[in-house]
Amino acid sequence: RAMRAEQIRETFLEFFERRGHRRLESASLVPSVYDPSVLLTTAGMQPLKPYFRGEEEPPARRLTSCQRCFRTTDIDNVGRTARHLTFFEMLGNFSIGDYFKREAIEYAYELSTEGFGFDPERIWITVFGGDPALGLGPDEEAIEYWRGVGIPEDRIVRLGRDDNFWQAGPTGPCGPCSELYYDRGPQYGADSERPGDDTDRFLEFWNLVFMQYELHPGDRLSELPQRNIDTGAGLERLAALLQGVPSVFESDLFRPLVELGEELSGRRYGEDFRVTRALRIIADHGRGATFLLADGVVPSNEERGYVLRRIMRRTVLQGRVLGIDRPLLEPLYERVIETMSGAWPYLRDERSTILRWARTEEQNFARTIEQGRDLLEELIARAKREGASEIDPEDAFRLHDTFGFPFELTRELLAEEGLSVDEQAVKRLMERAREVARRGASKAGTAAERRERAAELARASGAASRFVGYERLATDT
Ligand code: ATP
Ligand code: MG
Ligand code: MG
Ligand code: MG
Repeated sequence: RAMRAEQIRETFLEFFERRGHRRLESASLVPSVYDPSVLLTTAGMQPLKPYFRGEEEPPARRLTSCQRCFRTTDIDNVGRTARHLTFFEMLGNFSIGDYFKREAIEYAYELSTEGFGFDPERIWITVFGGDPALGLGPDEEAIEYWRGVGIPEDRIVRLGRDDNFWQAGPTGPCGPCSELYYDRGPQYGADSERPGDDTDRFLEFWNLVFMQYELHPGDRLSELPQRNIDTGAGLERLAALLQGVPSVFESDLFRPLVELGEELSGRRYGEDFRVTRALRIIADHGRGATFLLADGVVPSNEERGYVLRRIMRRTVLQGRVLGIDRPLLEPLYERVIETMSGAWPYLRDERSTILRWARTEEQNFARTIEQGRDLLEELIARAKREGASEIDPEDAFRLHDTFGFPFELTRELLAEEGLSVDEQAVKRLMERAREVARRGASKAGTAAERRERAAELARASGAASRFVGYERLATDT
């Protein structure tokens, strides 16, 4: 019988508790106000940084946690790979100046093989292979300890600085990493021969960071006075591997969510790539939005609120891909709460707030879409009058940039009318707008500019009376 997610979580935390680790509650997805370095919590070590830096006394030298995490950088991977999510749970064990490499490696191996029952023959390891700029050779210590637990040389892969050296910035604490992978067999990537090639045959499930240096300007290293261990294992990846399913989305954590998408749409997971991908994105973003809302984030056009708004609206759009035309967010978040509140009881406390935002945001987005559609219809009518086969890329861009009307909808509706738009040109305009935003044009100036452009477009399409305000949203798939 395969281990359920519930048991995997407990097995991990208990394993380390029995080895002297103090179990910590997960921190919020919203980082402490004292840590402006990240928008959202992306790893188990993040809330522990003051301990690692020696700024605060830890409750114990050995800690373990299951931390809720959110990685905006993985949004585009969701649905495409077997292993990437925006929201996930990271299990971790930490040593604040207590044990170091040997124990970290021995614990990880023991828990993987004896605790979880992974076939030792299929476990592959990556270690830091050295870097001339840092003046470091391969991590011989790590290699020796992995050999010591029984991993043969040919399953220990040396990778470079990009893959296996952890640093939080150009300076500060840092150190080599070592990762555990599971070989799922050639059916998941026939050309794949070893970890590190970014296929899903060799699936990374655990990362060990050996924090032992301080990085100074110019890549100069010095030894840290206190050596730390920071590890992270993705619960969903462990579940997929231990349940023998092709991806995280077929694990018990996701099945009820995928099923809801199937029920609401009448489509089947696995039917074709587009449908499967949409069902996966809906399930992932459903979890992400529910947890962000539970942690007090609200949809807006800035920072965390914008991340939330983006995944909420993207969910609705993926629902459209499946032909869902009734409210999706509320039943979805309700299902997430049902599925996850055993492990995360605080979801139940925030239930009514979560569901209220689901309704409001979905209604707002419906209005945005309606308004954009009216404007687009005007543009289509004009193109037809003029006998053109395309609309002006500038107009398509403004629909997206000023009215928050998703470009993919523009493309779809144009195609229905036998019209098109120069997509490259639109993409260039979007890129230019992003650059302007990056260069940090003052917010007031930008908003004024956008309002001006909005008015212009509304005038051009004769829809001035329908313009209800400025909204920015990048919902390109
Ligand atoms: P990958 O190379 O697969 O993108 P990573 O090296 O970026 O993973 P780490 O930063 O090492 O991941 O995070 C530690 C662990 O957290 C990973 O080994 C994995 O189990 C899990 N993890 C990381 N990113 C994700 C994600 N986007 N979705 C689910 N689990 C994740
Ligand atoms: Mg990654
Ligand atoms: Mg990796
Ligand atoms: Mg990693």
